[in-house]
Amino acid sequence: MKNQNINIIIDSINYLKIFVKESDKFSEFLHIGQATNDPLKVSYIKKEKIKSLKDFAKIETGKYPSREFRNKYFVSTTIEKLFKELFTIVTNRDSNMLYEVISRIDIHLKNNIKNDLFIESDVAGFYSEELKKYSYYKNGSCMSGKPKSYFEIYDLINEDKNLDVKIVGLKSNDLVIARALLFNKTIYKHKICEESGKIINTTFSKSYYLDRIYVADFLQNSSYEELQTKLFLQIKRAYKLNNLNCYNKSQIESQLVKIHDLKRTKLKAFIKKTKPSFFLDVCPTDVEDLEFYPYMDTFKYVADKGLTCLDEQTGHILTLDCTDGEATPAEPHNECIDCGCSDEDVFYSELEDEYICNDCSVYIEERGESCLSDNAVYNNYSGVYHWTNDIS
Ligand SMILES: [Zn+2]
Repeated sequence: MKNQNINIIIDSINYLKIFVKESDKFSEFLHIGQATNDPLKVSYIKKEKIKSLKDFAKIETGKYPSREFRNKYFVSTTIEKLFKELFTIVTNRDSNMLYEVISRIDIHLKNNIKNDLFIESDVAGFYSEELKKYSYYKNGSCMSGKPKSYFEIYDLINEDKNLDVKIVGLKSNDLVIARALLFNKTIYKHKICEESGKIINTTFSKSYYLDRIYVADFLQNSSYEELQTKLFLQIKRAYKLNNLNCYNKSQIESQLVKIHDLKRTKLKAFIKKTKPSFFLDVCPTDVEDLEFYPYMDTFKYVADKGLTCLDEQTGHILTLDCTDGEATPAEPHNECIDCGCSDEDVFYSELEDEYICNDCSVYIEERGESCLSDNAVYNNYSGVYHWTNDIS
């Protein structure tokens, strides 16, 4: 496939040479081929660069530069830019011809991008880009390439045998072109005997959620929805799912209607919700003990029941909304120890070492502090309150 792509670029240059005049710089561009960092671009090395590598760094370019060498020393650019350097455009005919060839190459290169499904368990290795079996491209995710230690929360999720998170995506050879987090939770249903209260039988089901699908930058304009839909359908098939809740519901649905001519009524069964139907019940203390945190899209809130996608008034502890390894602590949500109210009247009492409210407390003048009414004794003679502990 690779050679085919190099050939189409070289063949096109040779074809254009017949009709369009070469520029003066034409012979300076060597080893023209498909770029290693973007399959829709070309890369080359100039004669003078080869010479200076040889003279100053004692590095030989060789007859067939390796992929690594290309990455390191080649210049990558668009086909249009390179062709404009290679040829001298004089007439409209030259220009039309040039653009026609460029668009043909473009279509060819795009058609040669494969869409192979991959499922990766090492979420931290993938995000940190330390897993070397993939080539990573910019895709709009703010966490790509951050230190591995930021992603320990995913290991924590995977420690629970009922929870699972993976990176799933599409690749062309080792090049990642689309990817998303796939969460799943095993949900148990117990049938309980009404008389004895014992469990008669247990069934379980797995619930999945496909989070935001990121597409490699170089394909975002041309095939954003298409790739999201491809990944969605492949995951649905791989896991044999009828329904797969997915964040990119609207893009996928419009693509399914457009390309696959799917009836709107049938769509309902594909993706019911854009949000997961479960939370991740990891221990919040374990989450708090982590040294670093990733920015998390969906399961952003650390609440007492675990990671959820809802802020609610659950009194969540942390919000995973930072890209620098930090997390945002939630505003303290204090309740009166006595009546349980949580309005602005609630304050901290040093005497009680608890939060109490105005309604449930009295002021102890000799202490300059308030305590719970239950812990105060009224002195009829002096008309002031004492703290019970002070008089017994
Ligand atoms: Zn109270």
